[in-house]
This record gives sequence, structure tokens and C-alpha cells, in this order.
Amino acid sequence: MRPWFLVNRVMIFSRSRKGTLLRTSPSSCSSFICFKFGGCAKLVCSAPIAQLDRVPGFEPGGYRFESCSVQMISIFYHTQDSFADTIFAQLGKGRLHARSLYGYFMRRGTIEGFEVEPEAERLKGEILERTSFELPGYRVVVEDGGTVKFLVDMGEGLEAEAVLIPMKSKTTLCVSSQVGCKMGCTFCETGRMGLLKSLGREEIVAQVAIAVHGLGRQVDNIVFMGMGEPFDNFDEVMGAIGVLCGGLGFGPSRITVSTSGVVDMMDRFTEEADPGVHLAVSVNAPNDEVRKRVMPVNRKWNMAELKGAMARFCAGGKREILVEYVLMEGINDSLESADELAEYLRGLRVKVNLIPYNPQKKDRFAPPGQDVIEAFAKKMKENGYLTLVRQTKGQQIRAACGQLGGVDKVKIWTQTKKIGRMEA
Ligand code: SAH
Ligand code: SF4
Repeated sequence: MRPWFLVNRVMIFSRSRKGTLLRTSPSSCSSFICFKFGGCAKLVCSAPIAQLDRVPGFEPGGYRFESCSVQMISIFYHTQDSFADTIFAQLGKGRLHARSLYGYFMRRGTIEGFEVEPEAERLKGEILERTSFELPGYRVVVEDGGTVKFLVDMGEGLEAEAVLIPMKSKTTLCVSSQVGCKMGCTFCETGRMGLLKSLGREEIVAQVAIAVHGLGRQVDNIVFMGMGEPFDNFDEVMGAIGVLCGGLGFGPSRITVSTSGVVDMMDRFTEEADPGVHLAVSVNAPNDEVRKRVMPVNRKWNMAELKGAMARFCAGGKREILVEYVLMEGINDSLESADELAEYLRGLRVKVNLIPYNPQKKDRFAPPGQDVIEAFAKKMKENGYLTLVRQTKGQQIRAACGQLGGVDKVKIWTQTKKIGRMEA
């Protein structure tokens, strides 16, 4: 069944506590997807509810809706086509006007000045009445040598962090797919938080819209390298990519998704993603022994299985993978490690990106010296791999790879509200 409308305010009661209010969704929250049955709305499933159900003592089912009559459609949830279809499904008309309103808004970030012929004024009003163009609140924390980090309000004290990184002539936007992350990599600040929330597609798209329309920046490339494991939120990430391409006008080849190696979803990505969308894989270790120590995901899928999924992605000879490798002193930075990594990657179409370890709030590791980084890169090149060392940007504002978020930012969240964590 297709979503009929998005409710913008939901009251949630616990049955077991005889109507005690547990929590009210924030008014900006649009991720409660509802279906209409006769005259009343029924909540079928939603990410926030799924989280609530795991709170001990909470009995699912006691939901009551408020202001369901406000049938708001978040424009950031939709592609141009699906927006037009949704309007048509509700009004029985208006497909063309919905399409042009959508295009107008996505180009300018405002509906001011959108004009229609006089006889369509009423129709325009009906479309506007049920469409939300609202972006979540955000704050731009600091600016450091051109790198800009902005934190987007996701309700209930949670923030998703995004980073604008100016390169020579182009600007890359690094977006988050989750608040926190359950993968638990020991070198990553986001991993220390555990998973707090998986973002809806409109919340991912909103980060791009804020950069483009809120901050007025040109965005050339989008990388899913912010907070979270994109393949632990596969459907919403794929939905967001659909909106970015079929709404905000990004070509698939301007988008890169980075994964820590969630093998089953890598295979879905190979099958389902537009062939133009790039894939990056955080390999980060030369062998299973080291990888298992720093990346718990390696206990579920070892490096041989990971290589299998990478090979299936590259099969056909058209697509290649960006291999990310965080260099940590004394852990994975020796020349023997470089040779082992080169052997592991043999037969795959890859480019290698070396990322010197960025410091954490409480460090367990250290970056190697410049000479060691250069020697490692040289060894990879001698082994036949195109290898680049990622320039460190945004360290002072805690915006570099692996520095987003932090346990100190989630004080208001109790342990029970964490919805998942892999332990190292
Ligand atoms: N979860 C995804 C994408 C977000 S992390 C993934 O892991 O691929 C983006 C990149 O930052 C990954 O390649 C990850 O290995 C790297 N990273 C994590 N912690 C880091 C740190 N402390 N220093 C440098 N890079 C780090
Ligand atoms: Fe999650 Fe990626 Fe950080 Fe690992 S490196 S904890 S997968 S965000």
C-alpha cells in the first residue's frame, strides 16, 4: 500500500500506563508515514516508532493522532514524478502544476514568484496547502579555512552533521545517513555514540537543500561519508539518492556512497543502484586479524566475503571502487601491510585513498609520521595501484573523517534509547 499522507504531529501514548503521554513528535517531524482507512489514519510503521518499541515497558499500539487533518507532504521526500503522482492521487488533478511548482522550488529554494494562470490559482492554493517546504533548523558551527560544518536539528536534541569541503575548483558535501552508528569501529568518534537514529530520506535530502539554498553554496559532489553506515539504512539512502537525482538535479556520477563492508547490502546496491553512483569501501586493514580488532563488522563478514562483494560490483569491467584505508601508527602502516593490502586487492578495479588517522576526543590510535605515509603510498603505487593521500581538512572544527558526533553530545539519551551497537 502506498503512503497516503504524512502526519506532522502525532501523540504517542503507552497503553500499559493508561494513557500517560510518552512523547509527542516534534512539529517538524515528517517521518511518520500513515495510511488512510476510511475516515481515520492508522500508523503502520515508522522509524521513530520502531525505536520506541524497544523502550522497556512500552507496549506498542497505543498511538493517538493529532491534527491528522493537516495532510502535509514534505517536498524533500519526493522526486518530481512522485510528488506529481501524490498530488494527483489526492486531488484527482494538478499533475502538471505540481511538476512545475516542484521544479521551481528545487531550483530556487523558494516558492515566491511562482505564478500560474488565473484559472489555476485555486488549484495552486490546494497544492500549497498540503505541501511542506520547511527545512529543519540548523546551525553553522565554525568555519575553518573554507571547511564548513553544519548541524541539522533532527528533533529531541539529536543533530545530524554535514560538512562542506572546498577542493581546488569544486565543493564536496559530506552528508550523514544516521545520527551515530552501530558499527562500532574503534577509531571513529561516531562509532562511539552507538546508533541513535536512522534518518528518513527527506532528512538526508534536507542536508543538501540546506547547503544549496540555506547557505547558498554550489555543491558539485555528494559523499555519504558523514555520520552513520549508509547500508544500515539502505532504503532511505537509496530513496534520498533518487530525490537528489530526480529532484535536485544531481547526476548519479556526482554521488558516492561509502560503506564499512555490509556485504548483503553491497550486493543489493550492485543490483539496484544506478550504475553511475560510486561506491567506496572502508577496508582499513591488511588482513582479517587486524580488521577484526578495529572493525567489528569483520566478524560478520570477513575480508574474503568482502572481496567477493567488491568483485561482483566491479564485474563487467565498467565500475570501480574507491578503497579507503585509515592509516594508524603501528597498526596497519608498515610496508608489509602495504604489500598485503595490494595482494588482497589484486584482480579488483580499485583506486586507493589513504586517510591519515584523525584524532578523537579520547585517542586510542595515532597517525603515522609524514615519511611513513609517503612510503606506504609509494609502495601501493609500486604495486600498481592509483593511490592518493586524502588531505586532512576541518580538524580544528571536528569536521574531518571519523570526527563527527561524540558521546558527550548525547547526554540526554539514555542507554535504552540506543537502538543498536556492535561491540569491538
Ligand atoms: N560508515 C561509512 C561512511 C562514514 S565514515 C564507512 O565507514 O565507510 C567515512 C570514512 O571515515 C571511512 O572511510 C572511515 O574509515 C573513515 N574514518 C573513520 N574514523 C576515522 C578517523 N579517526 N580518521 C580518519 N578516517 C576515519
Ligand atoms: Fe560507523 Fe563508518 Fe564510523 Fe565505522 S567508520 S563507526 S561504519 S561511521
